[in-house]
Amino acid sequence: MDSASHMEQLHMKDQDGSFPADSTSPESGDESIALSQSSSDIIEQPEVMVEVRKTDTMGVGLFATGKIPRGTRVLSEKAIIQMIDPVYRSELANRFCTKLARLSQDRIETLSQLHCNPQVFKGEDRPAIAKWYNENSVTDAHGQELKGKKRQESRKKTLRRFGVFITNSSGITLDGQVGRGVFTLFSRINHSCVPNARYGWNEAIQRFTVHVSRDIEPDEQIFISYLPLTYEGRAKRAEQLEANWGFECACEACRDPAREMGRVKMSILQLLLTSYEQGNTHVPRIMELDPLKNRGEALDIANQLAKLMVSEGLVTMELAKTYRTCSQLSLWLDDLDEAIEYAEKALDIERCLIGPETEHLREDDLGCQYWLEKLQGLKRSQEA
Ligand SMILES: [Zn+2]
Repeated sequence: MDSASHMEQLHMKDQDGSFPADSTSPESGDESIALSQSSSDIIEQPEVMVEVRKTDTMGVGLFATGKIPRGTRVLSEKAIIQMIDPVYRSELANRFCTKLARLSQDRIETLSQLHCNPQVFKGEDRPAIAKWYNENSVTDAHGQELKGKKRQESRKKTLRRFGVFITNSSGITLDGQVGRGVFTLFSRINHSCVPNARYGWNEAIQRFTVHVSRDIEPDEQIFISYLPLTYEGRAKRAEQLEANWGFECACEACRDPAREMGRVKMSILQLLLTSYEQGNTHVPRIMELDPLKNRGEALDIANQLAKLMVSEGLVTMELAKTYRTCSQLSLWLDDLDEAIEYAEKALDIERCLIGPETEHLREDDLGCQYWLEKLQGLKRSQEA
């Protein structure tokens, strides 16, 4: 490692304790720990555009080193540790121990530096790890078998590392099976309910990618939304963030009540749309809302929802999905040109947030590109 951008000096003490820097139980007394990432873990990155820096209130975070245009892929990572999800939770801890035992020392160190939310532990985790320790021999870096107190310490560290894994792991697919992995730089990205980036596992390239959803200024912090649905109300967001990551969000959307009104409106529009899509069997009666009666009304609502998301700065996959819904409704309403216009908008968002590698979304026209191609084919056959 000779490049400063590949090796960050991070102060792990005196943190505020919010995600993702760890202050709950650092394993090392060292003031600064080197965070290194093997260069082979990052591909398709012409230049390093982001780096880990200390923040005032959020521990560490990922920052832009220069201007980054909208739609740029800022990260393309392989996991430092990954596994297929087992059926039972106790099996997860067991598998983790086996994986951890085979992990290189620098990867273990990297993992240990990440945040562990104590709330993620389940009752079966501790016994599962104890059982693994009873059934396996554990050695130190020199191949010496650990005994007594050292073995106990190792078990404690493994439990915490398992907590780190649960706190920081993200969904991936391995050989078509659902799994999870921890990604070094990605794990350093903080949450905002108004994210400026989108993350996700790209099955086509087998990498975890992060794309910025708008132009980023130099030194601006990169934020993703840890929550799948950004348009949910503040109370619901706060509840999920506390339960899964153990922190309170102080982003602009959470601080400003006026912005919250936009979220409330979005949730209602979304509820009406979903209800319509499901045949109005789940009409949101408590709000005394009339269910949508026809495709024209549904298109109007979907269009309103998309406009609100744009005005709130929520360039997310939900926005792509909403444009896609508009496109489908326009097609049903026999307006092919409008359907194509919406499909182009959906594709623009998908390209921005995922990139061009979407072969894995080809099936059932799930990918916006394939949907647009289908509509263009229809147009050509109409003109012929
Ligand atoms: Zn927030």
